[in-house]
Amino acid sequence: MVDKKDISLFQPRKIKDDDIYGKEGYILNLIKPNIYQFYSRGAGCHVYLIIGEDLNVLIDTGIISKFNSLNYLLTTEIGLKIEDIDLVINTHEHFDHISSNAYLRCPIAAHRWAATKIQHTDELITKGKKWGVDLSNLKINIWLEDRNIFDIGNVFLKIIETPGHTSGCICIYEPYKHYIFSGDTLFKGATTNIYESGSISEYINSLQILNTLRIREFFPSHGKYVLGEENVKNEIESSIENAMMELDTFINKLKSKPLEEVKPPPSLYRREEEDL
Ligand SMILES: [Zn+2]
Repeated sequence: MVDKKDISLFQPRKIKDDDIYGKEGYILNLIKPNIYQFYSRGAGCHVYLIIGEDLNVLIDTGIISKFNSLNYLLTTEIGLKIEDIDLVINTHEHFDHISSNAYLRCPIAAHRWAATKIQHTDELITKGKKWGVDLSNLKINIWLEDRNIFDIGNVFLKIIETPGHTSGCICIYEPYKHYIFSGDTLFKGATTNIYESGSISEYINSLQILNTLRIREFFPSHGKYVLGEENVKNEIESSIENAMMELDTFINKLKSKPLEEVKPPPSLYRREEEDL
């Protein structure tokens, strides 16, 4: 039993750099007494493991090329087998978040708009082939909607619909402990890209909804996490500001120029390289 004082004193720390797969593998961090982060460098996304009193939950399964690293660190450092994972929640339908789902035998949950794309192998949205990943025959067992809650034992995971980056994006919020897994919706020091099926105005609205929640810490799928209520608020508000600016720029150009001259659309949509 960890008392409140100990939780407030808890310092996130690195457990291990993957010494077998090197930079192709994850860095394992302990970010809370019961939460591990598999930090991905380069291709792929971070994977989070929450050890509840009743269930072990993975937030995303990561890119398939890093699955061996996930399995290795899970087994040797945490002492769990992949069979000990009771539930997967995918933050959205992009290949780098879902492709290792194929190795899991537990129920897999995703927002229903993500589930439809994953179950239809909608490559335009999920982008597997472009990155050499086969996403056929993946199944979503639990189709989520806004405000669904998983009680995993001393941890509640509340689903917050946050469409924008894609239509099926969610954030996963602990409403009593006030931390959130922000997927590709909220990053530190960067505003997300808008991909096929996504929408910049929905993205702005999603951030505005996040801004009404009390959030002490957010854990994104790429880049660094952010601690401290004030810092979280600043990141949300600067993303809202950037997104609004991009949308305004686009609309103003549309008003003053012929349509052909307005393309390409605002830089949130313009991608030099894929960053999912
Ligand atoms: Zn993405």
